[in-house]
Amino acid sequence: METENIGWIGTGIMGGSMCLHLLKAGHRVYVYNRTKEKTDRLTAQGATWCESPAKVAENCSRIFTMVGYPNDVRAVILGADGALAGMATGSILVDMTTSEPSLAREIFARAGQQKVSALDAPVSGGDIGAREGKLAIMVGGERETFDACLPIFEIFGENIAYMGGAGAGQHTKMSNQIMIASTMAGVVESLLYAAKSGLDMDEVIDIIGKGAAAAFSLNVLGRRIAKRDFNPGFFIKHFVKDMGIALDEAKRMNLMLPSLSLVHQFYVGAKALGYENLGTQGLYKVLAGLNHMGN
Ligand code: NAP
Repeated sequence: METENIGWIGTGIMGGSMCLHLLKAGHRVYVYNRTKEKTDRLTAQGATWCESPAKVAENCSRIFTMVGYPNDVRAVILGADGALAGMATGSILVDMTTSEPSLAREIFARAGQQKVSALDAPVSGGDIGAREGKLAIMVGGERETFDACLPIFEIFGENIAYMGGAGAGQHTKMSNQIMIASTMAGVVESLLYAAKSGLDMDEVIDIIGKGAAAAFSLNVLGRRIAKRDFNPGFFIKHFVKDMGIALDEAKRMNLMLPSLSLVHQFYVGAKALGYENLGTQGLYKVLAGLNHMGN
């Protein structure tokens, strides 16, 4: 594959690893992140630091964003110093943040006004998937823009799908998060039950993790619970954001999702207890506490 100038904005847990794969594939990468130090390991590998998203865009014809919340997406793309302000006609903007379908459509329309193509391309697979270059990538926008970006997606993704027009990637990611929400609550309750009945959590995961209960949430995050490792992974604060987006969208569609509402409340409780910067497996601490089982 021909190497090219690629812009990357947002170099946290996910974006940092994804961007590193682009560097290792030989691309020239221009980076920006709110906290500059989080680009150090990338500049050490040859990436060029830029002072703003707009400056990144001035150097590249493809820009990727992987920030935290919809407001961050709005700032780094549509803000005065945002990527769109620096993008030339014919270039491509890909937002990989988990964000709102409506914002994806707004960005697509605003980009289109200056003849820039836009994709919404959120991912699944966690910190491990990003590190190993094995992410699932679900993409909304125009098919030909997707085709043009596929060789880049393949550098850090393994399971990549075009889902439809602008916003379809984010809607797909919401389906993923709705599934993950109840699964995560199930993992925590399953392991609490195991512990209370005197079983060893790892031994339980060894056996049930290969049967009908097999899931990333059990086999990866359940293992972390067994070790009492509550580091992120995937932040509780971002999970609360995602469930909030899914519930808003469901409300707009007149769709009742009672399990999602309940799990959202569990996680709002986790945030209220000060656990927002723990990984999503930190829900264990909430329910263990309520059951007087210690942490
Ligand atoms: P993260 O570690 O917090 O990374 C987000 C990065 O974006 C941070 O480095 C942050 O900078 C930067 N950023 C945020 N707002 C910015 C702004 N306005 N200008 C410039 N930089 C900005 O989070 P993450 O775990 O990588 O997650 C990123 C996104 O992917 C989230 O939407 C999350 O829901 C989604 N996601 C996460 C996972 C996962 O397992 N972690 C899996 C799938 C999807 P600072 O360093 O200054 O905060």
